Amino acid sequence: MRILVVEDERKIAEALKKGLEAEGFEVVLAATGEEGFFTLSTEPFDLMLLDLMLPGRDGKDILKTVRQKGFQLPILILTGRDTVADRVLGLDSGADGYLVKPFAFPELLARIRLLLRRGKQETEHLLKISDLEINLLAHHAIRAGQPLDLTAKEFDLLEYLLRHHGQIVSREMLAREVWQVLERSTPLDNVIDVNIARLRRKVDGPFETKLIRTIRGVGFVIREETDAN
Ligand code: CA
Repeated sequence: MRILVVEDERKIAEALKKGLEAEGFEVVLAATGEEGFFTLSTEPFDLMLLDLMLPGRDGKDILKTVRQKGFQLPILILTGRDTVADRVLGLDSGADGYLVKPFAFPELLARIRLLLRRGKQETEHLLKISDLEINLLAHHAIRAGQPLDLTAKEFDLLEYLLRHHGQIVSREMLAREVWQVLERSTPLDNVIDVNIARLRRKVDGPFETKLIRTIRGVGFVIREETDAN
């Protein structure tokens, strides 16, 4: 289980890292909101601990962006500001809970474990971004309420993209994880491209908001963006 800790107070950040690592978690630290968002966009995490008072873009701003971009990981806010207004605001913008500093480490641990367990049960078989949703149990995909007619491979491909939403997925990753082929080859790259093209036609073709994007020379990403590019 990987946890991203966005906290500018070095002493607190280091203590969290040490404590969580002792409990078997893998911990990555980010000292600013920008750094935190960048790290979240490039690596997979199961949970984020987010300090509200950060230099530059503050925690609330980052929280909003993270949710707008479709990241669904549980986010626990760490804050020194124990006011009702702040709590409500944080939860409104997509946080899963609050801890007011200073907090006892066992309490933090209990909250983390609860969120990880809850997240798993609730979302285990559903992957969602924007108005696109796939159900892993029923093996079907819908967009804006309309069922998408996907082949088994297209479904696997979409599932992989959704599991990594917001992150760039390379052809190498797709070859390895979706096609289970370890060695890259031009024919396989072509097969991947053809499947991506078909998937895009089905997922994005009839809809104004395009979710699957090609990042030239790198790979593909599924993400929700309001501005076209
Ligand atoms: Ca702070």
